[in-house]
Amino acid sequence: MIPFNKSPLLGKELDYMHEAITANHISGDGPFTKACTDWLIDQTKATKVLLTTSCTHALEMAANLCKIKPGDEVIMPSFTYVSTANAFVLRGAKIVFVDIRPDTMNMDENLIEAAITEKTKIIVPVHYAGVSCDMDKIMAIARQYNLFVVEDSAQGVMAKYKGKALGSIGDLGCYSFHESKNYSMGEGGAILINHKNFGERAEIIRNNGTNRNDFLRGKADKYTWVDEGSSYLPSDINAAYLLAQLDEAQKINQRRRNLWCQYGELLKPLADEKIIELPYVPDECEHNGHLFYIKLKDMIERDQLIHYLKENEIFSVFHYIPLHSSPAGLRFGRFNGKDRYTTRESERLLRLPLFYDLSEDELMAVVEKIYEFSVKSHGI
Ligand SMILES: *Cc1c(COP(=O)(O)O)cnc(C)c1O
Repeated sequence: MIPFNKSPLLGKELDYMHEAITANHISGDGPFTKACTDWLIDQTKATKVLLTTSCTHALEMAANLCKIKPGDEVIMPSFTYVSTANAFVLRGAKIVFVDIRPDTMNMDENLIEAAITEKTKIIVPVHYAGVSCDMDKIMAIARQYNLFVVEDSAQGVMAKYKGKALGSIGDLGCYSFHESKNYSMGEGGAILINHKNFGERAEIIRNNGTNRNDFLRGKADKYTWVDEGSSYLPSDINAAYLLAQLDEAQKINQRRRNLWCQYGELLKPLADEKIIELPYVPDECEHNGHLFYIKLKDMIERDQLIHYLKENEIFSVFHYIPLHSSPAGLRFGRFNGKDRYTTRESERLLRLPLFYDLSEDELMAVVEKIYEFSVKSHGI
């Protein structure tokens, strides 16, 4: 049996968690949270980083920091996870979806300008598969129209655009350390703050709307309620687990990229025969091997392959029912322009097993079954 995903243990997770527990610091903002934060600042060069309970919560903090109010509009792709939209919907925003590029599956930067209205406040690029959106173009549009950019970099930890870490380019960036991502703490995330005015309020929002951090630093003489907020601090036990993974980040990144390349090379003959399509990575992007997908002819063939692999105990999954066609998407959003690629490309997409502990033999077995399927359905 080859699972779709398996969260790796790099070795020091239990030791670190034990240390957090015996040091009697299991709530938020302890020494392990500090160590993870320092690692993230060093890796991303972001001005400030705060560990959060999830990427979803990092996005909610971003919506709050940008002071989204009912009726404001937020531009994003429809091909994304629900949290990208929910975070802004919770504050009453209207979601304006734009089409994706078929080559990277990222929001088409050339369609953003036409979606901007008087009410637009934020552009949310989602770096699908850890492959960056065209950030130069997106940042230029945002500056021209005075909009914020919140990068949904849930899948982008360790990935880069023109040498810059994803999440460190827009005003705010959001990372996920969910079990399904490259580096995990079970449930968790981080917010990267690159806008000079956001740092102080971000700490307050994350600490139940209190000035707790300033109080602990001796900068405030009373610990009190100063703004709206919530509890977005992960436990230091979870941060301890994450630190063990970040310690080995290069190793994890190399392994994932290596598996990604092997899939690409082994499946290239099928792409040359135009039976499948392989992912495309623009030159200015350094990806992190977050996920490997292939695209089949259409949804019927994609679903047949999922079924065929499953019969052979290999688990593969499709990605994202486009948000604009979902019940909540219809209520809270609108699609600007024509849906040329979002639905069509998402229906053809299939994610293959890719995780740190996937062996060469397992990868070969997946590839072999895809070839067998192609022989059956295309007679090659
Ligand atoms: C995983 C993911 C999220 C949500 O991350 P959580 O940490 O589980 O909240 C948001 N956006 C995208 C694009 C994701 O892939």
